[in-house]
Amino acid sequence: MVSLPHWFSDRRCLILAAGAVGVAILLGILAAFGVYDLAFLTLRTVTERGSIVIETRYNPVAFAVFGVLAAITFGGALLLARFIRLCARSGPRASVDEIASASATLGRELANALAVIRLDLANKETYARSLANAQGRLAGLTEADQVRVVVSLLVAENERMRLASEKDKHKLEASAQEIDALQASLRGAEEATLTDPLTGIGNRRLFNDAMTKAIKDSHAQRVPLSLIMCDIDHFKRVNDMFGHDVGDEIIRALARVIETSVRETDSVARYGGEEFAIILPGTELTRAKETADRIRRQFSAKKFAIRKTNQKIGQVTASFGVAEHRPGDDVQEFVRRADAKLYEAKARGRDRVADFGERG
Ligand code: GH3
Ligand code: MG
Ligand code: MG
Repeated sequence: MVSLPHWFSDRRCLILAAGAVGVAILLGILAAFGVYDLAFLTLRTVTERGSIVIETRYNPVAFAVFGVLAAITFGGALLLARFIRLCARSGPRASVDEIASASATLGRELANALAVIRLDLANKETYARSLANAQGRLAGLTEADQVRVVVSLLVAENERMRLASEKDKHKLEASAQEIDALQASLRGAEEATLTDPLTGIGNRRLFNDAMTKAIKDSHAQRVPLSLIMCDIDHFKRVNDMFGHDVGDEIIRALARVIETSVRETDSVARYGGEEFAIILPGTELTRAKETADRIRRQFSAKKFAIRKTNQKIGQVTASFGVAEHRPGDDVQEFVRRADAKLYEAKARGRDRVADFGERG
């Protein structure tokens, strides 16, 4: 049986995505038909000697409007892709309010752009009628003065059209700016869904994304990939003796130690309560084990105390499990192997690193 992504069952997401697709397509079509051919105007003028001169004029304002419209349509499509991604991953941390407000802004901006295009089309129709009218009148004229009158009418009409286009251009630019801002706030919402609020590092969702990508890259580039899982020792006792806030401080402290001990290409995530995961692309088991041990030493060397009372908390330690990726390991299996080693380190007395290179 074909299994659908879970967001397919979320009607709100589907309606939102479908609505945005519809409006974006409509915008694209209207933009293409409504503005592009306005950028080139063909004028027929009868000279004083009675011959007909056909000129093609280039209308820079219409060109600019077309450019802005194309950018808005393109931006709309990008936003749509973001929406769909956001909908697809909207889990417990995805801010429903932010998505709803973003969709309302997007709808409003697309409606604004649509209104501008409609107005522009109406202007264009009037303009086309004036041109046809002038063309008809020119054909019957023989006097230079009469021709001049018609030409000056045409010039006035052209100027009216230019001003209208300029006004539309500003409105569309404002819409484009609004959409840019919206995109930035969506990016923020997206980042928030991947960040752990206590430590500011990645959360489990980021870990899953990063791990899936790291396994793919390691396979494609034929480079090693290692994983460190780490868990604070006897953390329940710390919480019980010193309180949850102190426990939170210690979790943050370990996050900082890990962050400052790894390379930029490594990914760090809070995997669970006081458990962390470190993905080390391009790293063999031996080097990953060295990194884990460096973090272990730095963390256990910290002397924690309660700020207000200066009461000593003493040493807090952590245990580590390390594994190197093996062909065929998926995310689950890779984590399972590193986790098994972490619990082996616990069983052997804690405050140590166990790796999959060891026997037993
Ligand atoms: P072990 O050495 O076997 O890991 O013992 P432990 O006491 O650390 O056991 P375990 O890892 O199972 O306990 C985790 C504890 O961490 C339980 C939970 O109350 C606490 N914890 C989980 N998340 C948080 C958090 O965000 N803040 C604080 N302060 N404590 C947390
Ligand atoms: Mg623990
Ligand atoms: Mg734990």
